[in-house]
Amino acid sequence: MIRRLLVALGFSLVSSLAFAGPHDAEFQRYLTNEVIPAAKAQGISDSVLKRELSGLTPNTKLPGLIGPYGKGNPPKVNFQAEFRAPANYFRESQFNALVGPGRALMNKHARTLAKIEATYGVPKGIILAIWARESGYGGAKIPHDAVEVLATRAFMGERRDFFKQELISALKILQDGHISRSSMKSSWGGAMGQPQFMPSSFLKYAVDFDGDGRRDIWRSEIDTMASIANYLSLHGWVKGREWGFEINLPNSVSCTREGPDNRQPISAFVGEGVTRVSGRPFPSNEVNQPGNILLPAGRYGPAFIATENFYVIKEYNESDAYALFVGHLADRYGSNSGFVGEWKPTKATTRGAVRTLQQKLEAKGHDVGGADGLIGFKTRRSIGKDQEAGGYFATCWIG
Ligand code: CA
Repeated sequence: MIRRLLVALGFSLVSSLAFAGPHDAEFQRYLTNEVIPAAKAQGISDSVLKRELSGLTPNTKLPGLIGPYGKGNPPKVNFQAEFRAPANYFRESQFNALVGPGRALMNKHARTLAKIEATYGVPKGIILAIWARESGYGGAKIPHDAVEVLATRAFMGERRDFFKQELISALKILQDGHISRSSMKSSWGGAMGQPQFMPSSFLKYAVDFDGDGRRDIWRSEIDTMASIANYLSLHGWVKGREWGFEINLPNSVSCTREGPDNRQPISAFVGEGVTRVSGRPFPSNEVNQPGNILLPAGRYGPAFIATENFYVIKEYNESDAYALFVGHLADRYGSNSGFVGEWKPTKATTRGAVRTLQQKLEAKGHDVGGADGLIGFKTRRSIGKDQEAGGYFATCWIG
């Protein structure tokens, strides 16, 4: 019996040594020399630092790590990966799966949502759609310890200074008592809770709307919804305006005129033959306000007039597809009708092929907004301008 106990003890000692991470000692030095003095300077107490950082080790399984102190090879962008075509991003099944649960939440929180709308001026549909996109209304698994993720990235990831400050912000949130350490979960990128806020965004935008004294974006649906609304409000949401409208874009209006830097009053587009696909006129409070053409798949997909609010949604996530998904889902909580224009299947391509095309366009003097292998509006209209220069009808899409 005693022998077996000794063997067991010996085994566990050996295995704990064997499983100590190769970077643990260096990580401890990093915390002691770089994080703790900076955190103290920002008002984090000794007791919080001791409580939250003792025994912490880096999670070397996180994606996108480089090496201790950023010494190592940066992760490669996978330019072989298939470019995600708009037709795949905007699948009907995705919207249909989110509409029902969203409506149920709107009923459950009807009175609170009315108060949130009155306070922040952001429509409930937009709030719900962002919540849906970020965490499936809180149903998505967000499994990581935020402090561990942020400290690991600060020590051995990209953008180390950024993550060091995010780590200190996370310690501030714990010090202020909004959440316990065991409940402060994040994604592998450090985005926290149901609205997926980075800690610095939490400090600026999260609000306590259920009145319990804590800004709890992990467990409180009400705090989550109000925090999303506050984020959009402080990023310039224009009260009383829509995000945009699906339109019929006549062939006489070139797709190369896409983009928020080509805004004009919506009435001027109407004068050029633009109509809404619904057949209804533009609302009277919108028609004299500015808007711009939006063509996420060039002439291979539906066309839109986007308002300034579309670009406020993009402050949440810098992607036309994301913002359109949110705006369209928000509309669907009403009638649940899909896009009228068809997302036509487009040629399969890779990020590498897109980047090569962008480099060719840049060589011809076009502004594609950086050859990153992603197709934003600057790339789309540059393709269109190149097509027009060659004497073709511009599609503003590859092909
Ligand atoms: Ca609260």
